[in-house]
Amino acid sequence: MTLYNTLTRQKETYAPADGKPCGVYACGPTVYSPAHIGNMRTYLFVDWLRRAVTYAGFAMNHVMNITDVGHLTDDADGGEDKFEKAARERRIDPWAIAAAVTERFFADTGALNIERPETVCKATEHIPQMIAFIQTLLQKGHAYETPDGIYFDIASFPEYGKLSRLDLDGQQAGARVEVNPHKRSQFDFALWKKAPKEHIMQWASPWGWGYPGWHIECSAMGLQYLGGRIDIHTGGVDHIPIHHENEIAQNGAYLGRPMVKIWMHGEFLLIDGGKMSKSLGNLYTLADLAERGYTPMHFRYFCANAHYRSKLNFTWDGLDAAKTAYDRLLAAVRAHRRGTGAADAEPYLPQMREAVLDDLNIPKALGLLWGMVKQPPSQAVYDAALEIDRVLGLRLDEAPQAEEDAVFPPGILALIDARQAAKAAKNYAEADRLRNELNEKGYEIKDTKEGQVVSPAERGR
Ligand code: AMP
Ligand code: ZN
Repeated sequence: MTLYNTLTRQKETYAPADGKPCGVYACGPTVYSPAHIGNMRTYLFVDWLRRAVTYAGFAMNHVMNITDVGHLTDDADGGEDKFEKAARERRIDPWAIAAAVTERFFADTGALNIERPETVCKATEHIPQMIAFIQTLLQKGHAYETPDGIYFDIASFPEYGKLSRLDLDGQQAGARVEVNPHKRSQFDFALWKKAPKEHIMQWASPWGWGYPGWHIECSAMGLQYLGGRIDIHTGGVDHIPIHHENEIAQNGAYLGRPMVKIWMHGEFLLIDGGKMSKSLGNLYTLADLAERGYTPMHFRYFCANAHYRSKLNFTWDGLDAAKTAYDRLLAAVRAHRRGTGAADAEPYLPQMREAVLDDLNIPKALGLLWGMVKQPPSQAVYDAALEIDRVLGLRLDEAPQAEEDAVFPPGILALIDARQAAKAAKNYAEADRLRNELNEKGYEIKDTKEGQVVSPAERGR
């Protein structure tokens, strides 16, 4: 399979090292407020990645962190911890906020048919690992202490800025962050923050009471759970210039080699062409979508129409079109179940396979799927649709099938299908014979404009 690597700016052929599972580290949610549909787009992209890798025949070892401390209100290490702020504003304990938001996150991702990573790890449960990591960086001369914390010294890591092709010299100090007079460079970032007494979340460290910076958690947990060898590291595009640049610096300084082979980033979901934000009142969650009658699968289908490296604009009209199309697709796929037509899954299935393994071209696979299901009913098409759905994750085999199967035992289904086929072939004598056989077995048949409708005869007759 090929995957686009942000670091090299090109598609690369990917296969895990011999016999090893594919190690994925996915930057997870910051659980101080419920995830919005933009965040969900990024987790859908990661889910398509894990499903495609699995489909390609590789085992998975997927690690996702939960950021429950240390993410500052300004990504570039300014401001205060998002949890402290939320806790103060809402007068709730930050731990309780994190627990509730995490629970909702997994309810939402589950509803979106996003598979759960093999390992989910919380920042607050890895403080000792982060402290140890920072101590090593200090010993190796990559970090220094100031009155308010420990900072990474980017001058000690000449490759800094490679991922985002940052031009450090061309950037004005302070354009990005408030100028901190104790930092050697304004691009130096916090590894550890010393906490004032009233700070709720704080831990003892060699540098006094405090809490970790945001970036160090991903380096420390990537080291712990993937042994410092990460095949694919994911996040949204907003992570490229700061969070992942900083991770690369921490990892490289600690290991003396890179920790990550392929960096992959999901483009943003925009709303009405712009940014989602609380202040604009255009920040939606799955619950907001449900209120307007859209299911998580409608949103998943909506996202499946755009490649993960393209921006996607969310509008209610767009979601509505996705809903109509998704419902039609489900019906179209179901119509193939036990279909006796001669339609073939070739050349669609190999082309769909190729598309999903070509840097996750989900929209292309979806287009091919539509072409395939437009053929006359055929079981081969049904099987192929369900096979590619192992990657698409659109629940194309949804519940109605199970309900129907529960009503009609397999022997009866065979008779129903045979009668359908006889009628289609205008073999009315055979159709009548099959109707009688079904009647005898306790089923009634009505011929309607939409086709035959079969129901169990009422009891007692
Ligand atoms: P956060 O919970 O803020 O740490 O973000 C969780 C994930 O969502 C990160 O990978 C972000 O890059 C990603 N993300 C944030 N906003 C958007 C958006 N509008 N569209 C797509 N992904 C986003
Ligand atoms: Zn991260």
